[in-house]
Amino acid sequence: MLNLNDVIEINGVCQVIDYKDQKYLSLKQEFEPAYVLLQDKIRSYYDFSVSEGELLNSAYNLALYAHRDQLRRSGKPYFVHLLAVANILADFKLDMEAVVSGLLHDTIEDTFVNREELEKIFGKTITDIVDGVTKIGEISGKLGPQIQQAENFRKMLLSMTNDVRVLLIKLADRLHNMSTLEYMPAKKRERIAKETLEVYAPLAHRFGMGKIKSELEDLAFKFLDNKKFQELARKINEKKEEREAYIRKVIIPIEAELINQNKKFKIYGRPKHLYSIHQKMEKRGKKFEELYDLFAIRILVDSIEDCYFALGVVHQIYIPVYDRFKDYISVPKTNGYQSLHTTVLGPEGKLVEVQIRTYDMHQIAESGIAAHWLYKENIGKKRNKIKNDDYETNISHIRNLLEEFGNQGEGDFLKELKVELYEDDVFVFTPKGDVFRLPQGATPIDFAFAVHTNVGMHCIGAKVNDKIVSLKYILHSGEIVEIITSQNQHPNANWLKTVKTGKARNRIKKFLKEEKFDEDAKRGEEIYHKELQAAGVNEKDVNVEQLLEKCSLKTPKHFYAMLGRGEMTISRVMSLLNITPPKKKSSGSFITKILGRTKTDDKILVDGQTQVDVSIAGCCQPLPGDDIVGYITKSKGITVHKKDCPNLLKMISYRDRVVPVDWEKTPQLYYKTTLFIEADERKNLLKDITTVLAANNSGIINIEMKRVDNKVSGFIIIEVNSLQQLNKIIQQIRREKGVKVLDRK
Ligand code: MN
Repeated sequence: MLNLNDVIEINGVCQVIDYKDQKYLSLKQEFEPAYVLLQDKIRSYYDFSVSEGELLNSAYNLALYAHRDQLRRSGKPYFVHLLAVANILADFKLDMEAVVSGLLHDTIEDTFVNREELEKIFGKTITDIVDGVTKIGEISGKLGPQIQQAENFRKMLLSMTNDVRVLLIKLADRLHNMSTLEYMPAKKRERIAKETLEVYAPLAHRFGMGKIKSELEDLAFKFLDNKKFQELARKINEKKEEREAYIRKVIIPIEAELINQNKKFKIYGRPKHLYSIHQKMEKRGKKFEELYDLFAIRILVDSIEDCYFALGVVHQIYIPVYDRFKDYISVPKTNGYQSLHTTVLGPEGKLVEVQIRTYDMHQIAESGIAAHWLYKENIGKKRNKIKNDDYETNISHIRNLLEEFGNQGEGDFLKELKVELYEDDVFVFTPKGDVFRLPQGATPIDFAFAVHTNVGMHCIGAKVNDKIVSLKYILHSGEIVEIITSQNQHPNANWLKTVKTGKARNRIKKFLKEEKFDEDAKRGEEIYHKELQAAGVNEKDVNVEQLLEKCSLKTPKHFYAMLGRGEMTISRVMSLLNITPPKKKSSGSFITKILGRTKTDDKILVDGQTQVDVSIAGCCQPLPGDDIVGYITKSKGITVHKKDCPNLLKMISYRDRVVPVDWEKTPQLYYKTTLFIEADERKNLLKDITTVLAANNSGIINIEMKRVDNKVSGFIIIEVNSLQQLNKIIQQIRREKGVKVLDRK
């Protein structure tokens, strides 16, 4: 272990702590007695080794030296604060690393000492702890004046801390700062008091540290509502003697019976802390005079058995109030708290609350998570009087308490304690200082939707810690995120690949669905008018209301959307409404009937002329996008073939009958196409194929398949509106299990 005689390198320059520095020497002289008391306090619960003693010395000297020119707002040397924090940590009975870190907790933030130097002298563990405390300070600075989401901030602290001692030091730091808060300017005072009440007191509660929680709450109460605080303090004080006399009256018979039964115990009355009384008055809307549970009688005993025994004694002497008994021994609170609670009818008909617990439970109720270091130290030294099986029960309770923190290991499990509770979350700030909790991997889009749906719907960019980042950027805990919005921006399908939160995902999906619905409806409406015209049906003859009713649709728009999606065809409309379309000139085959509508729709430009009678060849069924040629027939005008149609190649001898043709630019109609399939037979094959077709908005005209042994083969005749759509369908069906061959006919 290095000590302060060693050279410390700072910014590449070697510095030695100057032991002759006057300020340092006079401070050392001033604080020596207090330092000795600190050492004694630690020694009272922990027999530290020589090297641990040297470590403490090094921290003491470095803290004195590094802060020697700084004063607290009270005008006292800064070291007062460090010593106070170290003392509070020793009151928690924490280990040497924690106390040493407490002395050093402000060095990185406030002095010339940096991480590297600290690590050279004190090693990685202590440096990590001090660094952690410093980081919390930085994060706190980002919080807004109004803490809107204190709970998330608490979780953020937990998620960013991997050694629980960091938070214990922060609590000790806050406790001392609260006790000297009167020196702060009023505005800062209020902010700190509020933060204490909303962030640090609940954190202490979370750790089961009842004592520090009450102290923090009362201090915050004192600064936030001084009038009420003073009034309550005065009222409680006024009745002090009367109350104490009453407590004696309650206690005496219990005491007598327990002594009679040869039990070892401690019994006393405990006034509740001011803030909890204040909260009760507010919550129940009662006046101080109307509250009966201003204090509780507490009985401490050696074993769990004795807890229940003492409970029996209390219930023998006083009548228990129905429904007020709580057994937190068999079912501890989530923060590890254990006790028996009962309320009885005391002398003069007053209600009295009684709490019964073992000394160990008491230790845990007061110090919570901090208590475990004590047990760890006691285990080898047999200094504790706790019986072995009781110790086991106890350690398992503490273990339960810590389990939430993700620690499973044996032996050194307490020392290696990690706070992994919120490992899967990130916590980020708005520029105003509100905290949002998001899952690991969340992006600015998730954040935008978490802030407000409207922000999410229009987010176009983001700044993280003032730097522009992409919307795919992965957020980290502690970052400040600002969203840039534009009213012209809307979600797109790519966003779905980026987001992690359900909220963002659902909102984007909903938007895309609505957007698609609008598009489908628009396309459907066009199809409706064109195809009715093509079929020679007068629109006035179509009873739209009847149609909607038959299809169970709400609005014409829903009907158009179905048409647009290909889930409905005009021929189906006509059969539903019993409309017989007027006969066409060329009757033709079934295929040409379906394709007939293309003839009059000018979908194919033939050599610049549009009035030519054109039909799609049934042999190769070309689609928009296919390379095509026209073939002049003797009786049916021009048929359009794919350029590589084998039938056409046979006819190519009539070269002069082939004419160049091209697709019109914006094809809107549906074209029939036939797919050939070969597959291994399996359950749901047909269903899976039709699912692909439906997902791609393709209409199904006919499916013909036959089975030979375990193979199926056949044709699927579908309607598509583009080659692109068809290719997608082919690719997707080919990927289906069991499909061996899938091609266009
Ligand atoms: Mn501090």
